[in-house]
Amino acid sequence: MTQLNPPERLLMGPGPSNVHPRVYGALAAPIVGHLDPVFLDVMEQSKALLRDTFETKNELTIPISGTGSAGMETCFVNVLEPGDRVVIGVNGVFGNRMCDVAERCGAQVERVEAAWGEAIDPAQFEVALESGAQTKLVAVVQAETSTGVLQPLEAIGALAREHGALFLVDAVTSLGGVSVGVDTHGIDLCYSGTQKCLGCPPGLSPVTLSESAVSALQSRKSKVQSWYLDLGMIAQYWGETRVYHHTAPISMNYALREALLLIHEEGLESRWNRHRTHQQALLAGLQTLGLEPVVQEPSLRLPPLTTVRVPDQVDEAAVRKQLLTEFDIEIGGGLGVFQGNAWRIGLMGHTSSPKNLMTFLAALEICLRATGLDASGGLAQAHKVLDAE
Ligand SMILES: *Cc1c(COP(=O)(O)O)cnc(C)c1O
Repeated sequence: MTQLNPPERLLMGPGPSNVHPRVYGALAAPIVGHLDPVFLDVMEQSKALLRDTFETKNELTIPISGTGSAGMETCFVNVLEPGDRVVIGVNGVFGNRMCDVAERCGAQVERVEAAWGEAIDPAQFEVALESGAQTKLVAVVQAETSTGVLQPLEAIGALAREHGALFLVDAVTSLGGVSVGVDTHGIDLCYSGTQKCLGCPPGLSPVTLSESAVSALQSRKSKVQSWYLDLGMIAQYWGETRVYHHTAPISMNYALREALLLIHEEGLESRWNRHRTHQQALLAGLQTLGLEPVVQEPSLRLPPLTTVRVPDQVDEAAVRKQLLTEFDIEIGGGLGVFQGNAWRIGLMGHTSSPKNLMTFLAALEICLRATGLDASGGLAQAHKVLDAE
């Protein structure tokens, strides 16, 4: 063994994404105690910056120790009790995972499905909400990283409210890349992850809970099944009393604060526009190279993650391998029904730049031509889109 020396990859898969130098700098800062006044300041600043990023005034807005899935589990285990009815949208991997988590809470899970690559029709939520018993929770993934679909939230949120159900949204790949609008969409529980559009390493999962969600937590009949993710106790450490629950991951919290500060400096609107423009440029390039988007409807395409179909004669895994070994570029393969026939190309957070998307298109063109495909002109088309901005 020798000292670790990982390569500098261009991370254009479904996450993690590249980390800004200032965030790396924060990770290397000296550790202080988890009750040190300096760290308490970091916590307060992160809470404020997270509220801005989630577009909410929710008091209980904190990073959970753990990756995005810890945020998912936190939201479900804290409000669900055995026997509760939940309606969950499923059109990809992460909707499925939410069902699994809810079932483990003893909930009665009603799935509302759409084909992979399509958004879920709110009318199906209405049918599910109007049949059967009172629904405790309606859950949906805003940015399905397995398919590249951006799920519209407005109508589903309104239906949840009408039927007296809490509204839960997975914003792991949307937060910091597209508007989540926690307060405007009436979202009661929302979670994200640091390694997608927030531009941090993986390791923390920001969550936010509305007053209704906090009341549901406080009026539970049974203890939260997870000790580690019990928000009743975690909120005390992140609140005024600072009661020790578990040692906060100090360095990751420094990193998150720095990443959120970068978002604040850029401005949310500019950041969303950056993600949208760069996706449009990327897609223009990809289409010129002969690759078609999986998501048909342009308004449902997720700006931070583009899915395209791989032409039949191309070995998708071989191209990904060449991109990685020859050009240090990582992209993602398809999952589920898209395994072997689609690529997932991320432009998330710090990764979303003209330099990165142009580098990728140049490398991809070489890989595609090596398979015998007559692929060319992608860079010029992408540049036209960038130029028009
Ligand atoms: C990545 C992701 C998760 C899980 O996050 P981890 O950090 O891998 O635990 C959950 N939901 C969505 C939509 C994701 O993209």
